[in-house]
Amino acid sequence: LPPIDCEPLKALVRTVPDFPKPGILFYDITTLLKDRKGFAEMIDAFAQHYIGSDVDLVLGIEARGFIFGPALAYRLNAGFVPVRKPRKLPAPTAKVTYDLEYGSDSLEIHVDAIEPGQKVILVDDLLATGGTMEATIKLVQQLGGEIAGLAFAVELDFLRGREKFAHYDVFSLLHYD
Ligand code: AMP
Repeated sequence: LPPIDCEPLKALVRTVPDFPKPGILFYDITTLLKDRKGFAEMIDAFAQHYIGSDVDLVLGIEARGFIFGPALAYRLNAGFVPVRKPRKLPAPTAKVTYDLEYGSDSLEIHVDAIEPGQKVILVDDLLATGGTMEATIKLVQQLGGEIAGLAFAVELDFLRGREKFAHYDVFSLLHYD
């Protein structure tokens, strides 16, 4: 199958200036999600990229990774693993703390969420600086998962986040420069 051209889907992404704070241009994907054709095409495009690579798990990052991740997992016949903000997961967790522009944030995963050697795809809605995904990679490495790819709906090319992930397959549907 030829790769799906996602470029027309850009028309369905809403940009909101100065959200959540002045100077930030927010890429709002809710307008794409509610479009039945747009949502299906997006999941199809992800699935087409990974089909045949025998992925065990799709891992989604809270919160918007929880929207694409499960749909993609279903299509790939894989399981789904949530990576969550602190103190949300009930069983024993591994934790990673990473720096933000101001302060820091943490992410957690259940320690039994991934068996060593399992093939995992990591999904989030948007790649900006890459700090969130970099932290998530550390969690997967702690558990011994094998990272088969990093997937994003939107990539802000000008921030060069993908340079942090030279050793991985980075796949984004929509690119903004
Ligand atoms: P980063 O860690 O810098 O790659 O930021 C990625 C995370 O922050 C993702 O979970 C995004 O949902 C969110 N994010 C960062 N910048 C934006 C933006 N301009 N529009 C929407 N979401 C963003």
